Amino acid sequence: MYDYLIVGAGLAGSVLAERLASQLNAKILLVEKRNHIAGNIFDYTDENGILVHKYGPHAFHTNSLKVSKYLSNFTGWRFYEHRVLVNQHGKEYPFPVNINTLNMLYDLDLKNESEMQSYLDSVRIKKDVILNSEDLVLNNVGSDIYQKFYKYYTLKQWKLPPEKLSPSVCGRIPVRFNFDDRYFTDNFQYIPDNGYTKMVQNMLNHKNIQIAVNTDYLNVIDSVKFNKIIFTGPLDLYFNYIHGKLPYRSLVFKYEYHDVEYYQKVAQVNYCSIPPDFTRVVEFKHLTGQKAPGTTIAKEFPVSEGDPFYPIPNEENNRVFNLYKKEALKIKNLYFCGRLADYKYYNMDQVVARALKLFEKIAGRI
Ligand SMILES: Cc1cc2nc3c(=O)[nH]c(=O)nc-3n(C[C@H](O)[C@H](O)[C@H](O)COP(=O)(O)OP(=O)(O)OC[C@H]3O[C@@H](n4cnc5c(N)ncnc54)[C@H](O)[C@@H]3O)c2cc1C
Repeated sequence: MYDYLIVGAGLAGSVLAERLASQLNAKILLVEKRNHIAGNIFDYTDENGILVHKYGPHAFHTNSLKVSKYLSNFTGWRFYEHRVLVNQHGKEYPFPVNINTLNMLYDLDLKNESEMQSYLDSVRIKKDVILNSEDLVLNNVGSDIYQKFYKYYTLKQWKLPPEKLSPSVCGRIPVRFNFDDRYFTDNFQYIPDNGYTKMVQNMLNHKNIQIAVNTDYLNVIDSVKFNKIIFTGPLDLYFNYIHGKLPYRSLVFKYEYHDVEYYQKVAQVNYCSIPPDFTRVVEFKHLTGQKAPGTTIAKEFPVSEGDPFYPIPNEENNRVFNLYKKEALKIKNLYFCGRLADYKYYNMDQVVARALKLFEKIAGRI
């Protein structure tokens, strides 16, 4: 008899398992349909001895002291600030767009915020109403940067042009009016020093937590006894798709090993034209800090089918999500948590924060 059946051993499921076991002495069965724990933050050492992130590069960043303090119970950290370059026909530019990006693109000598502002004012296409991602980018940076950095990348990533996507999609990437070329500006930017999988292993190392990988919850739900369920899988799957499927974009990762110390200057290089079909090339050694004579990279090809990675934010999908949400509220002793259950793109720190909050609610502390 378990107190909780937790579905999904990603970050959300693992935080909840750890908290419930260690703080409330609850007995947990954690089921995971993949053959490993840690969900999308899973990392492993490949056949060439290089630590790789199986589901895309993961750079941890947060402004939440609560989240970083909590995770520090299970890992040490390596300082790492993520940097991204855009490759445009062989030339590389810093991204997000900042003063250096404009100087390199247009052979300018902008020196400060007001000079950058004046330059962008001279090229931006002013929109009184921002209806979609195209409006947003044209309004911020004008047509040339839109074409070079946003239009085709977005088309590859989402299989939709920016004018068909909500402003939030391209709006996630800031424009910087200084020389800061870091991808994130959070106070805390570190990578677990022995990798993400090790961190999650440490979280789950508790006598009250039993883990079953290679186990779809549907195969155990009738044979296992438990009081409550925490579900971190896809919300529409839980309800057997009665209101239709919530669509996602996915990625195919093509790995290559190269006999050079480093393949590229930074962990992530974006390819914003078509061709190529891939959107980005990731080199893991930059993230992990590993020293080795060779290096592994992954080219990322966006696809429609496959692991559910990116929810597609638009009105229709929000409508369907709300129908499922209503179903969810009717069921007692069932909690949903995580990016698949909320059908939202969350960064890791947001997932941890939400899981900690749900724990506090379950424990009656809020
Ligand atoms: C390509 C990519 C790059 C990213 N990079 C970053 C980054 O740099 N920084 C950052 O902060 N965040 C990043 N993220 C986001 C980060 O991966 C997520 O915030 C986090 O992994 C979500 O954890 P989760 O537990 O909600 O979901 P998941 O990790 O998806 O865990 C859910 C688990 O449920 C399991 N499951 C589903 N259905 C069933 C079932 N029927 N039975 C049993 N188990 C089931 C799944 O197999 C999965 O393991 C990135 C995401 C992607 C896709």
